[in-house]
Amino acid sequence: MGGPYVSIDLAKIEQNARAIVELCAQQGISVAGVTKATCGSPEVARAMLRGGCSSIGDSRLKNVRRLRAGGIETSYMLLRIPPLSRVEEVVASVDVSLNSELSVLSALSEAALRAGEVHDVIVMVDLGDLREGVWPEDVVPFVRRVLSLRGVRIIGLGANLTCYGGVIPTGRNMGRLARLVDEVEQTFGLRLECVSGGNSSTLPMIAAGEMPARINQIRVGEAILLGRETIRREPWPGTSQDAFLLHAEVIERKQKPSAPIGERAEDAFGGRPVFDERGDVVRALVNVGREDADVSGLVPLDDRLEVMGASSDYLIVDVTRAEEGARVGDQLVFSMNYAALLAAMDSEYVEKRYQGAAC
Ligand SMILES: *Cc1c(COP(=O)(O)O)cnc(C)c1O
Repeated sequence: MGGPYVSIDLAKIEQNARAIVELCAQQGISVAGVTKATCGSPEVARAMLRGGCSSIGDSRLKNVRRLRAGGIETSYMLLRIPPLSRVEEVVASVDVSLNSELSVLSALSEAALRAGEVHDVIVMVDLGDLREGVWPEDVVPFVRRVLSLRGVRIIGLGANLTCYGGVIPTGRNMGRLARLVDEVEQTFGLRLECVSGGNSSTLPMIAAGEMPARINQIRVGEAILLGRETIRREPWPGTSQDAFLLHAEVIERKQKPSAPIGERAEDAFGGRPVFDERGDVVRALVNVGREDADVSGLVPLDDRLEVMGASSDYLIVDVTRAEEGARVGDQLVFSMNYAALLAAMDSEYVEKRYQGAAC
């Protein structure tokens, strides 16, 4: 207690999910809620499912285990390509995994057969973002090989953009995915039930009615958690941006110069920060630091406050304009970007306080 905490408003998460699910439903698209930025929080997953998400996706098996242990009964999708060394666990833990390597699919197939199961897979196609996926020209021969594996069943194709390469989903690249689906279905005489088009960055295209009809699923984390699409990071209509807030306490408040005094070397992290010379400022030291959050992603809700910098244990905030506010013992509240959320949820030093709905 007394340390920084993240407040998590489950009613807002549920409402954010509902706004996105309803939009997508109009176009026959289902939404897998993505919990990875919350380290697989069962409370958050439950709010997403209440809001209408049809399944839960996470990148880590450990998070999936946490969700299952928390009593979340749903279909689970593993978002990160499975490692060859963990195929048994993948088959045992999730209902469907995203895949791009034949050797892994072959091992998944064997593991599933040993367990007396068939494991569902989505083959990922790289549409240019250069993260995971089979190159489009290679999809048909790749699928042919996968179809010969008895322990896995291809339920669809998928793609992921705007992650590594920052490539935007467009009619062109999504159309390519839709055409590949048709080609696979015609070549092999099968029906692909799930075409998983992308993540939060697909929302503007869906809202504009431009998503090809064959795409019938998206996997959404950030837009539900933080209420923003991820192309321009604009607030998404019908969602709240403050379902997660970081709260931390002022532990020192003093008037000091804006720039350090004395001969200077590197800071504690090997950087050489630059300081403005703007005379004395009132500075608050706050009990949250780089060990707790990605401080560059913290924005004070009170716009009179300005983050000046941080060390492992302290955030330094210019509170000059807050006049009598931000006194020792006061809580300052910050919104978080995705990186700050991920780090704060992952930090054992940051308490998580759920509110907003019984769970
Ligand atoms: C993280 C992830 C998502 C969710 O991305 P958001 O931008 O948070 O919506 C979807 N798909 C995959 C494969 C991911 O790794």
